[in-house]
Amino acid sequence: MSINWFPGHMAKARREIEENLKKVDVVIEILDARIPHSSHNPMLDEITQHKPRVVVLNKVDMADKQATDAWMAKFKSEGKYPVALDGRNNQIIKRIEPLAIRATAEIFERMQKKGIGRRAIRAMITGIPNVGKSTVINNVAKRKIAKTGNTPGVTKQQQWIKAGEQMELLDTPGILWPKFEDEITGKKLSLTGAIKDTVVPLDEVAIYGIEFLLTHDPARFNAFYNINVSESDDVVDVFDAIGRSRGLKAGGNEINYEAVTNRVIYDIRNGKIGSYTFDEADA
Ligand code: GDP
Repeated sequence: MSINWFPGHMAKARREIEENLKKVDVVIEILDARIPHSSHNPMLDEITQHKPRVVVLNKVDMADKQATDAWMAKFKSEGKYPVALDGRNNQIIKRIEPLAIRATAEIFERMQKKGIGRRAIRAMITGIPNVGKSTVINNVAKRKIAKTGNTPGVTKQQQWIKAGEQMELLDTPGILWPKFEDEITGKKLSLTGAIKDTVVPLDEVAIYGIEFLLTHDPARFNAFYNINVSESDDVVDVFDAIGRSRGLKAGGNEINYEAVTNRVIYDIRNGKIGSYTFDEADA
């Protein structure tokens, strides 16, 4: 999805989510498991207040397993109901629904005590662009509902989708804007594809990715590109090595740096080199 977030968009998105919040018992926040901190917009905490929260660490297939375990523990310690999954898997409702049931147990107990008859648990999905909201909704609904690349502020008739045995889900996700706390957050959002390629200079994104890999997984990085570089090498030498190894030339023997930049970003963004998590749970 590729929209520019102006203050008006943000205000409207916030209002829409606030409206929808009134209708639901539980919020299902989708995060990118590779950047659970950077893909979270803290505005959601402000407006949901004490509403129970299921946290889906999506794209877990591309995240580091140990880091995912650490994030799961952190979210549990915060009283949230986390689950790590691949949103494309068609069994995900079996993982999400039990958490929604646990998250809302108290609410329904209170209702029962007041003599209010049991009804379906109502839930809504939220998250920043590209974390997999539509993928999850469509998968749970078993049909194509949420348009991939949907825009905030485009109002349409909302519907409840039956999701699992006891849950109903709003068919339109609450779209949050990516929050830039600092430059590094911007680079992480770009590296994982959460923001447009025009927002942060791509060479900086690629350099961030290369430095991350040379610090965290140098052997795999070298093996993947069939090169021999280290953390202490000048980053231009790393670009040169990748360019030579992959034959990315600009004519003659010159390295095509733009092509190297794009290749590195593509390889990291799509999990080709390996599965990495860029945010630390205990940071
Ligand atoms: P939305 O903007 O939040 O609705 O995100 P989409 O549902 O459109 O997903 C963005 C991209 O991520 C699509 O290309 C999906 O196929 C892909 N995607 C969604 N979930 C997963 C997942 O768990 N693993 C992987 N590898 N890709 C996913």
